[in-house]
Amino acid sequence: MSQRIGILGGTFNPIHFGHLAAAEDVCDRLNLEQVLFVPALLPPHKQENMPSAADRLEMVRRAIHNNARFQVSDIEIKRGGISYTVDTIDELHRLYPDKDLHFITGLDSFLDIRTWREWQKLLRSCTFVVLSRESCRFQDLAKLDFIQVKGQDLEALDERRHEQLAITNGNIRIILERIPFYEISSTDIRNRVKSGKSIKYLLPEAVEGYIIEKKFYG
Ligand code: ATP
Ligand code: MG
Repeated sequence: MSQRIGILGGTFNPIHFGHLAAAEDVCDRLNLEQVLFVPALLPPHKQENMPSAADRLEMVRRAIHNNARFQVSDIEIKRGGISYTVDTIDELHRLYPDKDLHFITGLDSFLDIRTWREWQKLLRSCTFVVLSRESCRFQDLAKLDFIQVKGQDLEALDERRHEQLAITNGNIRIILERIPFYEISSTDIRNRVKSGKSIKYLLPEAVEGYIIEKKFYG
């Protein structure tokens, strides 16, 4: 069987312990050989001013340096233009022809999947791993017609009676993962910096130091 690689795309503005703890957990649960963190150059869904891609990449690098299973990839940055996941997965298939690609995303992002470029092709091109996220319910997936599962099974995930649900529909494969809530978001971290509050214990010290040194989010 081919080895599995997890891919975690994001803005990482900045990377935090929510991303890292979730990726580590998924690595164990799904027996992933590695998780590739892929910072977006220009995310299609976000407009805010942000540190350069090189700085966001550097923060990811600092955050993962002590984890042998984590790697960072600059393919979206090198490709240039708007960072579409469908292009990234195509490129990763070319780079890793023998690997079984698993794209990891939070439930908040996945609920908008139909707004992603070529989303139907994308869904067929790799396994999707969808992580629980605070303030989102798996039950809301019932409105997506390609998810054909019983509402009560989604409810069981929301109520923490189940940890995992694998959905197969033709050549679409989605794994829903109920992980512990890490109530951390980059938005909250940026807001804290802006209002002069501490961000200690929300992200690795090396990233916190970089944010202070570069005066980001002030
Ligand atoms: P922002 O607040 O700017 O949207 P974010 O914290 O959501 O930032 P992103 O860079 O947007 O971070 O996240 C990349 C991916 O990681 C997304 O699919 C997102 O849903 C997921 N993710 C982020 N934080 C968590 C978390 N605490 N638990 C689970 N998934 C998360
Ligand atoms: Mg987000």
